[in-house]
This record gives sequence, structure tokens and C-alpha cells, in this order.
Amino acid sequence: MRRTRIVATLGPASWEPSTLKSVFDAGADVFRLNYSHGEPEQKTELYERIRSLEDGNRTTCILADLPGPKLRLGEFPGVKLLNNGDVVRLLCGKKEHIGEEIPVEYDGLSSDLKTGDSVLLADGLIRMSVKETGGERGTYVDCIVEDGGPVTSRKGINLPGTTIDLPAIGEKDKLALDHALKSGADWIAVSYVRSAEDLRPAKDAIKAAGLHTPVIAKIEHPAALENLHPILDAADAVMVARGDLGVEIPLEQVPLAQQRIIDAGLMRGMVVIVATQMLESMTLNPRPTRAEVSDVSTAIRHGGTAVMLSGETASGEHPIAAVETMVKIANATEIGLVSSGGTPGALSKFRSTRAVAHSGVELARMSGAKHILVATQHGNAPRLVAGYRPDVIVTAVTDRKRAARRMNLLPGVQSVIVEEHERGSKTMQNAIKLLAEDGSIKSGDRIVAISGSPQAMSGATSTVRLYKLQPDGSISGTE
Ligand code: PEP
Repeated sequence: MRRTRIVATLGPASWEPSTLKSVFDAGADVFRLNYSHGEPEQKTELYERIRSLEDGNRTTCILADLPGPKLRLGEFPGVKLLNNGDVVRLLCGKKEHIGEEIPVEYDGLSSDLKTGDSVLLADGLIRMSVKETGGERGTYVDCIVEDGGPVTSRKGINLPGTTIDLPAIGEKDKLALDHALKSGADWIAVSYVRSAEDLRPAKDAIKAAGLHTPVIAKIEHPAALENLHPILDAADAVMVARGDLGVEIPLEQVPLAQQRIIDAGLMRGMVVIVATQMLESMTLNPRPTRAEVSDVSTAIRHGGTAVMLSGETASGEHPIAAVETMVKIANATEIGLVSSGGTPGALSKFRSTRAVAHSGVELARMSGAKHILVATQHGNAPRLVAGYRPDVIVTAVTDRKRAARRMNLLPGVQSVIVEEHERGSKTMQNAIKLLAEDGSIKSGDRIVAISGSPQAMSGATSTVRLYKLQPDGSISGTE
């Protein structure tokens, strides 16, 4: 089983039912829905379409990516070509506009900027500097184009070195989060996190909805690098969002920042997604460049647990080939890759479950067990087990599809859905029997089972047992 997870962003190039199925079959473990584009309700059908791909224990996983306090251009028709030396007027507080000026929804832009400040568009491809700000009510920013190019509606705006006064979760995020939670998203990614506090509104909303949806902190702002440790302590997973990060900090600093983020995630046994432009040339070409292949492989060897495709699958010409390529690189990289052995310490969150998880992983190592089974209700215990990077496959045993779906982003974790039995040991033995039937567990294999007590899934994780599957199908080590 491939351990590295592949996240594919959906868009017009991949969301038609037959392409979606091919992308799934090619090995996309997680589908990312980017709420920066379109209205939340337009995604409702996509959730249904994705879930219709499920078959038995083969579940789907949806990552809902919130827009965050990211500035974007408003709507305007066609493509505007900005030439070097042009003076371009940004109209602040305007959603849409027909004419020469470019609308920007955020009305504070003219007061946040001053002459000489940098304004970057479209992931930094277009570079401008502020000539003057003004208007009767401070309504425009005139910029001189330094590096021009074509620009279309809704492209991102970055203001390196300028602090903008937008809340972590604005109105658009609230609507997106509400829609994602109601639709059953499996992971929520919070964009433009600057401090641990920025995760609070999303976490509170998830709790208020009675859900346990885990939260991914996207690291894409210099302030997030300054506050990396508290942010990671508050998050369930982290994303190296290199698109915006590479605009907000000098490009040449991105590789080191990526390594810092990966290391900080590994230390905590977290899911670490490395994202953006991984196979960028495949948006147009059927094959990647050598440098891109090396980038994906390096991200995995350095400890990234998931690699993400963005434009390659959302709007590229070769969405299926892009996933297939990722699979090949991950498989080739994992051969001979010695587990980097995350050894998360006694962090305050889930302290006792973490201790039990650690014991189970150590028992598997020392006993030569080929499988670790871990019972879960919400997916936390398998997440902690996976954080120790065991060399064997981990199977999450759950009675909830919702938990099973979340597992698709965890490295080297598969899931099996079984009914909860009164006795925890019985539930785990039933799961072993199921896996023996489908050939995943073979006669003579040792199995470590981590569960709650007295009930496997609903009891607090407290029990580690060592079993062996006998040639007659019985399970020794049972009581
Ligand atoms: C990124 O900036 O790399 C990223 C993943 O975020 P988004 O695509 O939402 O801008």
C-alpha cells in the first residue's frame, strides 16, 4: 500500500463524472474543493458526485479549503493585458466593473497602502508598485506595472510587507464553512492563518455543529512562520501552501521554510501536505519536468505525508496523467525509504491516547507484527498512531463512515467498517477476521490491536493486545 497521500484539487478539468472517477481510480486519495471559487451551493452536487464513487470499504475524502482573508480581484469581462510601465487603477470596494479599471472587493486597500508599496497579482506573476492612493472617499489605488502580463477575474492579490485588516474568518468563510460542514466535508483547511487564534473561529464552529472535523492550518503568510509552533499545536494537520508563501516571502526562502514546517509537523506526528506547482508543467504537457519529479520526491523524503495537485487537476489538460505521475513518484520514492520515525513527545493534546498509541507502535516493532489495528470513533487514535510512522500498515477499525473517510489523508492508514461489539476484544477480532477473509492478513501474521475498553470504539483508548492468526483461522492471544 502506498503511504504518501495524494490530494487532487477539483475544477472544470476534473469534476465531470467520468473524469472524476478516472482521477479517483488513478489514485487520488483526497479531493480538495477550493471555496475561493464560485458560490458554496455550487459545490453541493460535487459532494454527491464524489460520494457516489464509494464502494464498500473504499471511501472518499473531501478537503474543504476555505478562502481566508485573501484579497482577490473582483469580476470583470475577459482578459486584461497589463504592460510594463502602464498605470493601472484598482477600484476599491467594488465587486465587479466594466471598463479600464480593475475592481477589488476589499474597501480598505487604499488606506492600507502607501506610495512605493508592492502589489502582486496572480501568484506574483504580475508585479506593480503603488503610484498614489486616493479618490474622494479613498476609493482607488493607482499602480505602475513593473512586470506585466495577462490578468483575469478573481486572481489573488498579495501585498508583501503590508498588514491588512481582515478577520481570519470573514463572511465568505462563514458561508463556506457552514456549507462544508453541512455537506459533510472530512477535513477543513483554514487559509492565511497568521496566529493560533486564527484557527479558533473554525474550531468553535465545528464544535458548535457537534462535529469532530479536523482542521488543517495553511502556512502561507510570514506571520505564520513566526508563530509556527503555537499554530501547529492548535491544528490537526498542516499545509505548506507554497503558492502564496512564495509571494509573501522571497522565493528562494521557500525550500527552507518548507523544511521547517515539515520538521515542526513531524515532531508532532502530524499530517503535512506539501502543495502547489508540484507538477505545474503538466497543466499543459503530458509529462512533468525532471525538476518537478525531484520536487515531489524531495517533499516525501523530507517527511511530507501528502502531496497536492492544484491547477494540474483543477484546470489542466492532463488531470488523470498528473495523478498517475504522482502515484509513480510516490511509489518509487517509498521504496527503500526508511521511516523517518516521527517520535512525537508527550504533547498536551490527547496525552493518554498518544501514550497508548506509542506503546502499540513499539510493540509492533519489537514483536515483528505485520499489522496494527486501531479502533476509532472520530479518527484521532489512528492519527496519533500514524504520527509515529510505523513501518507496517495501520488499519482504522470503526463503525462510522465519517471516521473512515478522514483516514484517506493519513499516511499508511486504511480503514475497515465493522459493528461495535459489547466487548472491545471481540470487535477487534471481528476486524481481523474480515481482513483475513480479504487476504490482507495471512496465517502466521502477528497483529497489534489498539482499542478502547470495555468497548473498542466508544471506550477511551487504553488497551494494546498482541494476536497471531493461526493456520486454522483462529486467533491466538485471545481471551
Ligand atoms: C497556496 O497558496 O499554495 C494554496 C494552496 O492556497 P490557495 O490555492 O487556496 O491560494
